[in-house]
Amino acid sequence: MKFIEGTHIVTERELQAKGITRYHVTKFYREQIVNSGYYDQLRHIVEPSLREFGSLGNLDTSGEQDNTVLPGLQHKYAQTGLLLVTDRCASYCRFCFRKRIVGKDSGEISADFAQVAQYISRHPEMTNVLLSGGDPFVLTTDQLDGILDHLLPIPHLESVRFGTKMAAYQPKRFEDPALPALFQRIHEAGKAVVIVTHFDHIGEISADAVRNIRSLQAQGVQFLNQSVLLAKVNDDPQILAATFAKCHQIGIRPYYLFQGRPVKGASHFQVTLRRGLNIAHGINQRLSGIQKTFKYIMSHYTGKIELLDLGSDDRVYMRYHQNKNPEKIGKIFSRPNVEGACWLDDLPEG
Ligand code: SF4
Repeated sequence: MKFIEGTHIVTERELQAKGITRYHVTKFYREQIVNSGYYDQLRHIVEPSLREFGSLGNLDTSGEQDNTVLPGLQHKYAQTGLLLVTDRCASYCRFCFRKRIVGKDSGEISADFAQVAQYISRHPEMTNVLLSGGDPFVLTTDQLDGILDHLLPIPHLESVRFGTKMAAYQPKRFEDPALPALFQRIHEAGKAVVIVTHFDHIGEISADAVRNIRSLQAQGVQFLNQSVLLAKVNDDPQILAATFAKCHQIGIRPYYLFQGRPVKGASHFQVTLRRGLNIAHGINQRLSGIQKTFKYIMSHYTGKIELLDLGSDDRVYMRYHQNKNPEKIGKIFSRPNVEGACWLDDLPEG
């Protein structure tokens, strides 16, 4: 198998035992990253590295299985239902936090959408669903229509959100002539359509992506972007500020910058909290007020934690952006910093 460090012979069994995702990338993305001028950074997103073999961590860092209420449906925060609709993506990100699912026949994917809809109908507090996976846009538009048949009649759902990296990996997917009718259906059911793109680097925002995003915006689709802070890829305030400025320019609101998770086979992508906070400050210093709409977030087992600052008292200041317990949302808390810490669990209480 070809790795960034060179060709090495590994057995299928070794790959499986270490949970290494197979190499899979679209021709479009390969060409885009070569031609972008940022190949040395962007190649780490999709090309396997030998470092994956020694990268410690686990395969469910946010407690997804503990929040699964039905196969493929997670209900961690009151207002949001997270639906895993596929275990495939157009290309496989080496840092993926769903390595336990992506590219595998995982058994964690929704199969019975009637049952999912029944659950949601019984939970009026749930106002939005996020279709994720995998990438929902690897499904055909017909398949997506079939899922919506179950979701759209639910009156308390106010928005349908799609989490996707397709705008980077295969933007032509959005040229499917059947898609406008799908989005129109959602609008006619009285719900907002939100696409959350996943651009980690300005070099991923191709001319094809921009053209297709503009066309979807003309159809009333709202866009947000989430990025992951990744060593060797985008751990540079200048690159991330340029990425977020470009998103803003094309009508995508920068939304989350995720702290890399301690995922088995991918924790070598993590940067320390000290460095991440420095980068987040550097991004904010480079952007205008209307461009700095992102939050630097650690998606932890206990909730979504916004990383705020490293104080002069050498404590990391944070606040819960989301928590299962509404009382905790918005509350600022701190822990003593430890050099090298990359995750809440690395910081001692006290
Ligand atoms: S697109 Fe998302 S789900 Fe798919 S491999 Fe990349 S990070 Fe994982």
